[in-house]
Amino acid sequence: MKQSAMFIPTLREVPADAEIRSHQLLIRAGFMRQNASGIYSILPLGKRVLAKVEKIVREEMDRAGSSEMLMPTLQLAELWQESGRWSSYGPELMRFNDRHSREFALGPTHEEVVTSLLRDEVKSYKKLPLNVYQIQTKFRDEKRPRFGLLRGREFIMKDAYSFHATKESLDKTYEDMFEGYRRIFSRCGLDFRAVIADSGAMGGKDTHEFMVLSDIGEDTIAYSDTSDFAANIEMAPVVANYEKSSEDAAELEKVATPDSKTIEDVSKALNIEKEKCIKSLLFKVDEEYVLVLARGDHEINDIKVKNYLEAKDIMLAPANEVKDIIQCEVGSVGPINVKNVKVIADNAVEYIVNGVCGANEDGFHFTGVNPGRDFQADYADLRFIQEGDASPDGEGIIQFARGIEVGHVFKLGTRYSEAMNGTFLDENGRAQPMIMGCYGIGVSRTMAAIAEQYNDENGLVWPKQVAPYDVHVIAVNVKKEEQTEVASALYNTLQDQGYEVLYDDRAERAGVKFADSDLIGLPIRVTVGKQAGEGIVEVKVRKTGESFEAKVEEIPELIEKLLEQ
Ligand code: ATP
Ligand code: MG
Repeated sequence: MKQSAMFIPTLREVPADAEIRSHQLLIRAGFMRQNASGIYSILPLGKRVLAKVEKIVREEMDRAGSSEMLMPTLQLAELWQESGRWSSYGPELMRFNDRHSREFALGPTHEEVVTSLLRDEVKSYKKLPLNVYQIQTKFRDEKRPRFGLLRGREFIMKDAYSFHATKESLDKTYEDMFEGYRRIFSRCGLDFRAVIADSGAMGGKDTHEFMVLSDIGEDTIAYSDTSDFAANIEMAPVVANYEKSSEDAAELEKVATPDSKTIEDVSKALNIEKEKCIKSLLFKVDEEYVLVLARGDHEINDIKVKNYLEAKDIMLAPANEVKDIIQCEVGSVGPINVKNVKVIADNAVEYIVNGVCGANEDGFHFTGVNPGRDFQADYADLRFIQEGDASPDGEGIIQFARGIEVGHVFKLGTRYSEAMNGTFLDENGRAQPMIMGCYGIGVSRTMAAIAEQYNDENGLVWPKQVAPYDVHVIAVNVKKEEQTEVASALYNTLQDQGYEVLYDDRAERAGVKFADSDLIGLPIRVTVGKQAGEGIVEVKVRKTGESFEAKVEEIPELIEKLLEQ
């Protein structure tokens, strides 16, 4: 493509509202423009990257046994009412009325549409399993659209749905799709982890998120430094390999701790390590109050508490309610002789010897506290994993990293088929709800995540599999005929050989051309300049900055080699 004819509006300045590298560079290099908050036009260069990501996605989905289709973006409210999500989805769902006042939504995801489609067409176990996908624009009225394509209100998603007669069949497809996702993100050049995610009531094995490692990611991942283990920190189980210290049990004693409100305060005031302090927080769980204990140096994980209690809602009890229930300030709450509340504790608490806890009396704590002797509790894994903890798979030590969720695979089970009457007849002629899986990839988010991992101070540095073009041919001075002749001949030759070439034939200064070329970030640049007459050009590798002179007739061979590296 000749650059003079292509719409690539590059910018020298950093756009004011773009906080992160990928967002800044995709705007500056002319890959996209914002129309409104979270809404973008993808310009020609951006479209080429998207197309390449989509091609990889399609190839791997087909290989995993999913077949492409296209469902409507406009979705009838009735379907969402059947599933119950018309009321539960919240303001992210973009709703509108048609001219007959019928209610619709712009699709944020397609479980309802696909379930209604299949339930009318698939009647027998003989037709299962089925696995379909689409690549389509999705709409979510996000509260905080930000970071460009990473969190848009209109974005491109690949969503797949599978339908099964048996759990084993779902397990098999889940594995195939999981493997497909691995291949997709590897082929995109991304540094990522497949992470065990929160699936609410379902077990941890039933959903994974694919996270691109990046400091600007919104999620924290706990991963093993030596094995494959990785989990969202909300989900990572903690192994209870604690040990009791061998000191003798002391007597329980009530001590004054005026002005000590936090674990920090108490540990300083009493000169006792935080590990010996028993953190006691009152939670309101559904309609019940529950006192949750953890070691002072640990954090209580409310998702684990919620899952352990099989609860719907959980929140910290407000200070006034603590006062009503336990008759003291938040900072003095403790498990000894506490009334009217259930007491549960993280496993580590059971191993504390001669600890400290609140005395349920303002300004007082107990010392010499020994769990079992001084109070009873139910023990479970209720805390957040920490860096330095043992990895739950028994291999290595836990470290933290930030991640961007680019994909999500999920065993839905019968959540939708039951609500929407999506049944089939099994071998015995009995009606059963279809068992479902769903599998999403943020295609536009993936493009931004690649840009986030592949850039330097001068611009984008695309990996070749997703680069908008393979080669950037630059004619330094288009007024010099020998330069344009050599450059356009090279442009034609390379294209004939199957390379994708962007040819900068613009009447611009050399400095502008080079700066634009660095910004755009194609893998290889061939500069045709002063030595064109002698058949000598300059080759530059974007990734390494390495550059050298070469004879023009050697270029095709060189490019083949360089692209292989
Ligand atoms: P998030 O937690 O980031 O809001 P989600 O878990 O709600 O995402 P899913 O419903 O799992 O998202 O959607 C499948 C995929 O679509 C996600 O893994 C993500 O890559 C992508 N995605 C979701 N929301 C957005 C968005 N607002 N902008 C761009 N991509 C998105
Ligand atoms: Mg998700």
